[in-house]
Amino acid sequence: MLGAYGGRLNDKSTTSLLVSDSVAIDAGNLLSPLGDSARDINHIFLTHSHIDHIVDLPFMIDAFFTSRDRSLNIYGPPQTIQTLKSNIFNDLIWPDFTKIALLRSGEAAITMNEIQPNVCYEIDGVKLTPFETNHTVKSVGYVIEKESKKIMFTSDTGKCANIWNILNDDPDIASIIIEVSFPSNYEKLALESGHLTPKLLNEELANLKREDVAIYINHIKPDFIDRLKRELIAYERTRKAIPLSDGALILL
Ligand SMILES: [Zn+2]
Ligand SMILES: [Zn+2]
Repeated sequence: MLGAYGGRLNDKSTTSLLVSDSVAIDAGNLLSPLGDSARDINHIFLTHSHIDHIVDLPFMIDAFFTSRDRSLNIYGPPQTIQTLKSNIFNDLIWPDFTKIALLRSGEAAITMNEIQPNVCYEIDGVKLTPFETNHTVKSVGYVIEKESKKIMFTSDTGKCANIWNILNDDPDIASIIIEVSFPSNYEKLALESGHLTPKLLNEELANLKREDVAIYINHIKPDFIDRLKRELIAYERTRKAIPLSDGALILL
């Protein structure tokens, strides 16, 4: 977990998950923790277009433009890809790197790939299956499978039956990384912005028919870290949930 928080404050960073040396989910914090080895990343799967999940993308291609051989592949739902093309790589905010060739190989510097929910994408020994979540823009989570072990990453979501249906149907998914962004007394804000509070997560967990799923928490807004930890402990279903920090290692 390279970036575990729902905002940037002090030393806290935004969402990025390193799945293998070459595959990452979201680009909220890749360059700072990985340094030069961020050059090895060839595939970035996005959950949605919000800035805290894409902010490192423009710099990922800029930092290694002259030393990369392979195209940097970016994957996301069609709406996410279109938003990146229109609003980031539009020759105004940043160059359209899909039309610029790498100096060393002639490959396009960036390749945009539209993905579909519930289709398994296998890359460099990792299987990623996107599934639809419930946020203010088109958003997906991923079931990540490596060496036959599975974990679910929801990314940003409000209440979402899809998550629990998938978990109930697949006992091989051992763990879930789910978001909690705001304290429970900000429920209106959470509902309007497509996020969860400890109370909302507790309500959602009534839909989970399994007791054996390890629960990890990410996307806490940095201002609320201590408060949210206290609130999570107060609920039976989230008492053993593990709030993640930047750099946390999650063993499948
Ligand atoms: Zn976010
Ligand atoms: Zn978001």
